[in-house]
Amino acid sequence: MKPGPDREYSESVLAAELHPERFAVERQHMVETQLRARGIRDPRLLNVMASIPRHEFVESRYRDQAYEDHPLPIAAGQTISQPYIVALMLELLQLDFASKVLEIGTGSGYQTAVLSKLASHVYSVERHSQLAGQAADTLSRLGFANVSVVTGDGSMGLAQHAPFDAIVVSAAAAEIPPALFDQLREGGRMIIPVGPPEAQELQLVRKHAGKALISLREGCRFVPLISDAGSP
Ligand code: SAH
Repeated sequence: MKPGPDREYSESVLAAELHPERFAVERQHMVETQLRARGIRDPRLLNVMASIPRHEFVESRYRDQAYEDHPLPIAAGQTISQPYIVALMLELLQLDFASKVLEIGTGSGYQTAVLSKLASHVYSVERHSQLAGQAADTLSRLGFANVSVVTGDGSMGLAQHAPFDAIVVSAAAAEIPPALFDQLREGGRMIIPVGPPEAQELQLVRKHAGKALISLREGCRFVPLISDAGSP
């Protein structure tokens, strides 16, 4: 910092200095009241979500609401997921630093950023090129290096980088896309919302002896997974 009378306290300088502190307080409050209080326990995940600047992933007009307990609109008519949903999905994946993860539905890139701090590498697929481009820019500007954002139809997965230790799908599919299950390694975990808008359920799918074991079915509401190849 440059002290002295020639220092200009312009509005933007003030904003830059005051916001990080304010957002850090809001972020910690989010972790305590929305995540820990609702049963999220993984200390690595809680620490990561207490550190990632979620306000950087939303449009400036929504920054004040970045740490609130609901989804927010992003470009292309899509939404950034509610913080609790991100935490719930990622806790169920039981990632470690060696995990190679596939994410479908990059959206804002916020969840990609959280994943990048919990895993070795994150491949994230987004069908809207505008969103994919913006997310990739934000992630690289903030220094998240172990992520690859790809524009395309995520219901086909990314065969060239398979198998994945974990797969997280952030848009609701009519059924589990076969390509994604194929690209999950034996013993791997996938979390995916399945079903029509009014009756979606979050499913935790584990691959055991080549078969799908589904061990969680919880009501949820996501934007639809749009498969460019027609119905999955
Ligand atoms: N986790 C994201 C949520 C984004 S919403 C965030 O926190 O910002 C879901 C995203 O899935 C949308 O951006 C939508 O464009 C994308 N999507 C829908 N169908 C898709 C498909 N077949 N392949 C890749 N992305 C898809």
